Amino acid sequence: MHGVECIPMPPAGLFETDDSSSADAPTSFVRVAVERSLDLSEGLTYAGDDLAIGQRVTVPLGRGDAAAQGFVVAVGGPELLDGFDPRKVKHVRSASSTRLPEPLVELARWMSTYYCCPLGMVLATMVPAAVKASIGRRTITKLEPVPDPPAHGESDLDAHLTPTARAAWDAIRQIPAGDFPIAAKDLAHRVGATNAGPINKLVKLGVLREVTVETVRAPEAFWSESGAALSAPPELTSDQHAAVEGITKTLGSFAPHLLRGVTGSGKTEVYLRLIERVVASGQSAIVLVPEIALTPQTAERFLARFEHLGVAVLHSGLTGATRNKQWAAAASGAAKVVVGARSAVFAPVPNLGLIVVDEEHDQSYKQDQLPRYHARDVAVVRASIEHVPVVLGSATPSMESWHNAQTNRYTLWHLPARVAGLRMPAVEIVDMRAERKKRREQHGDPRTLESIGPTLASAIEQTLTAGGQAILLLNRRGFASYVACPDSNCGWVLGCDACDTRMVVHRAQARRAYVRCHHCLAEQLLPKTCPSCGKKVIELGSGTQRAEQEIERRFGTTLGLIEGETFARVDSDTMRRASDYFDLLARFGRGELKLLLGTQMLAKGLDYPNVRLVGVLNADTSIGVPDFRACERTFQLVTQVAGRAGRGRDPGRVIVQTMSPDEPAIRLAAQHDFETFAKRELATRHASQLPPRWRMARVIVRDRDHDAAEEHARDIARAVRAAADESVVVQGPAPCPIARVAEHFRFAIELFAPNPKSIQRALAAPRGAGLLKADARTAIDVDPVAVL
Ligand code: ADP
Ligand code: ZN
Ligand code: ZN
Repeated sequence: MHGVECIPMPPAGLFETDDSSSADAPTSFVRVAVERSLDLSEGLTYAGDDLAIGQRVTVPLGRGDAAAQGFVVAVGGPELLDGFDPRKVKHVRSASSTRLPEPLVELARWMSTYYCCPLGMVLATMVPAAVKASIGRRTITKLEPVPDPPAHGESDLDAHLTPTARAAWDAIRQIPAGDFPIAAKDLAHRVGATNAGPINKLVKLGVLREVTVETVRAPEAFWSESGAALSAPPELTSDQHAAVEGITKTLGSFAPHLLRGVTGSGKTEVYLRLIERVVASGQSAIVLVPEIALTPQTAERFLARFEHLGVAVLHSGLTGATRNKQWAAAASGAAKVVVGARSAVFAPVPNLGLIVVDEEHDQSYKQDQLPRYHARDVAVVRASIEHVPVVLGSATPSMESWHNAQTNRYTLWHLPARVAGLRMPAVEIVDMRAERKKRREQHGDPRTLESIGPTLASAIEQTLTAGGQAILLLNRRGFASYVACPDSNCGWVLGCDACDTRMVVHRAQARRAYVRCHHCLAEQLLPKTCPSCGKKVIELGSGTQRAEQEIERRFGTTLGLIEGETFARVDSDTMRRASDYFDLLARFGRGELKLLLGTQMLAKGLDYPNVRLVGVLNADTSIGVPDFRACERTFQLVTQVAGRAGRGRDPGRVIVQTMSPDEPAIRLAAQHDFETFAKRELATRHASQLPPRWRMARVIVRDRDHDAAEEHARDIARAVRAAADESVVVQGPAPCPIARVAEHFRFAIELFAPNPKSIQRALAAPRGAGLLKADARTAIDVDPVAVL
């Protein structure tokens, strides 16, 4: 489907000033996907010369000819017109120097179809905002020799040149052609001139000419100094060696690999070796990491190893100008290695050789706004378009990737043991019900609100006394997760006015306790009494703030644990900027901080040899979530955080506190038994016709008006059902698990099918008919990672 952006009939008096009505009809045309929610898969046709696929252009759009940005997606002659009068076609207004390589345009087409998002919006997503806004971009003037000097022949020059200019010209002619253009100042310096005089003379004589060059100026990317290992690369273990050799054999062709390696097995070293080979053959590599701000150590290892080759790092802590500069370095091929979070999958490297997706199971690879793409899956498709291998690595692969490896779509490589000298930590499951009983017997009172049981408490004492460090995980922000009336006959719970959620209690210093909704961010003061019966309220469900207080209260004097001085709380409330986290990790690395308490931020990639204890305060926080991936998440979280322990000489100890010690996800994580967990989990999913065997898409409709939302959802469901083949199961519309957010009612329609094509078709027809549009009211989520 495509459209032709034609000229609206001009008012009669202006007709002759319209130069496109002249006799010379244009002969070169392009199709442009504009950065609007126009869902035209082939773009709009415009007239324009000397344009290339992927180039970002400005075009007139609509009746008022408003300027719109877009990307050229096809270049050709009158065949792009489909019989439309060429003289009536509007012209491209201007072209920018930003250009996406052709494979990315192809990738965008795939994404547009697969994720149900207008092509122009997908292309716009591929280019960072700072690049589009040309932040830090400057045009500078440089010089180069004129191939055929106009006025003067070589013999004639002598007459016009001073001796110094003559000497300068001779020196310039010794400079290799590839070094030009060169800035005037640098050129004077290179030929040994003491000032710009001789150079200016040569310009005036027309033997040197000025050219303008675009560059991006930015301060150097700031980076933390936690002392990334600059030491010589280690000798590979035999498992690492097998993976490197096996994957190397597939360089130059499309091949997806899954590298499953337990925490500390040296997966990163495998990536580093592969990249060395790719770069040696003149190609570039892209490495995706979940979120650079959270995994600075991983990124630093790439920087340390490849600094001499040029590493572009794309992370959220960058200023616009730096981001633009890094993008330019990737686009020009100056950076051979690009390391970045989700959107780095679109790095415009000209000669791609390999893509690595580290921690491929991580949820942050899925973008939760338009286009709702999954960077891991996009990486696999890009690899197939560019005929290169892609390596997905994890200690806890997603069920999707594991299923693909089990069915031989991906080649599986396994690193079953930690690198030499490191052992897997021993994981103890502690039943919190028994712990509370023990504490009651010790103290004679319930102390039910304490987050740290006696077993973990004594482990903290032992570890810190012996000079070790500890990490405590509590995957819940705030002070208490809800406020309730203590009277079970009353049953009042404080909910958000705008959402179907409970308000979370926060206590900050110098501020009265307040409650906040984690969905719409509404806040109010913490009520003291129950509004229906007047009893004093209680705060239930401990979060990181309450655990922080508990640590100070219980270990402040005995172990000297003071928040901010000797231990730190790490969650999105305390870590506002990437640099906060970098600084904190540097202090932890130096041993100034003895203990970190925090949310899942702490489960990602930290590698500190002195961490001898990891405590999971409440392994149940993610089990109760009404999402079919709850068990998978729990398994991943426990395994990943446990993996932070035992990375030094001392074997690590891990204590997992739970109310459900028999829960398989927790038990199997404690036993480091991914395969059994995966087998069970896949069997359950398969029996319930859920991903990964079955594919899934969701359409969410939201509206302030309950009935309007439901009605719109019904219309969509009807259209989807009409378009779906018999393999597709369409469920709903039904209220979402969180039925109202920010005063909007939410309904979901869910599609399940054994293959993605059937889902595509079921969505494509209503989409083509304009019934199903991704907009403020409707979200289409293909392969959702969260179903709340
Ligand atoms: P993973 O990413 O699998 O958790 P890492 O790549 O972080 O594991 O490796 C853990 C540690 O072991 C790192 O400090 C790394 O430098 C080191 N390492 C990796 N490979 C080897 C090896 N073959 N011999 C010795 N040490 C290694
Ligand atoms: Zn709310
Ligand atoms: Zn009450």
